[in-house]
Amino acid sequence: MSNRTFFVGGNWKCNGTRESIKKLVEELNFATIEKDCEVVVAPPYLYISQVRKTLKDEIQVAAQNSWYNKGGAFTGEISPDMLKDVGVKWVIQGHSERRSIIGESDSMIAKKSQYCLSQGLGVMACIGESLAERDANKTTEVCFNQLSGYLAEVKDWKNVVVAYEPVWAIGTGKVATPQQAQDVHLAIRGWLSDKLSPEIAAATRIIYGGSANASNCHELAKMPDIDGFLVGGAALKGPDFATICGACT
Ligand code: PEP
Repeated sequence: MSNRTFFVGGNWKCNGTRESIKKLVEELNFATIEKDCEVVVAPPYLYISQVRKTLKDEIQVAAQNSWYNKGGAFTGEISPDMLKDVGVKWVIQGHSERRSIIGESDSMIAKKSQYCLSQGLGVMACIGESLAERDANKTTEVCFNQLSGYLAEVKDWKNVVVAYEPVWAIGTGKVATPQQAQDVHLAIRGWLSDKLSPEIAAATRIIYGGSANASNCHELAKMPDIDGFLVGGAALKGPDFATICGACT
């Protein structure tokens, strides 16, 4: 058993209305959230204030993205300074949907991450391979390349949680087996040890994302290098999300 605090993030993506989010917050407020688990939810920007004002304090609020610098003449962007102002503590960076659909590069993702960290926000740093990359035995190569992107900018990894999210598992219902996930998490920890230090590698939370749900979370959470989850679909159901948070016990 590691001494890393279990971490569960809920990525609500581009979902919700004021009404549905009110209901989800009520479900989360009602649920018993395991004390030994750090829990974070990431609503769409527009609903962050609503969620922060109504959600119980033991659950932190994250953003799904950010600008990479202070505010100014950057139409349509949201700066980490603004996120802090409304009570946000964490930001998801490098999600595969932003990499593949929006076209974010490793260097843009790294700049965003470093600026968030410099402002005292935590970063969930996402990485993960596509199915074609896995089939070509390139899983660790792809993950290490994406990690190297972060390494180019990130100066202090204390507030970084690495989220290993195989692209083929995100939103597909096809979860990685506990052993598949463990193998990659162990490789990531080895990379952190080589490139940073054994101490940083031992302290960094590495969480799994990709069709994690209330049924499969317990087996995954038993693996020694899986320190929690980044959850998409199942984060939209309060009781299921609470069950996933409870997988730390
Ligand atoms: C995600 O988008 O980060 C994710 C893990 O989604 P899902 O749980 O729906 O696969």
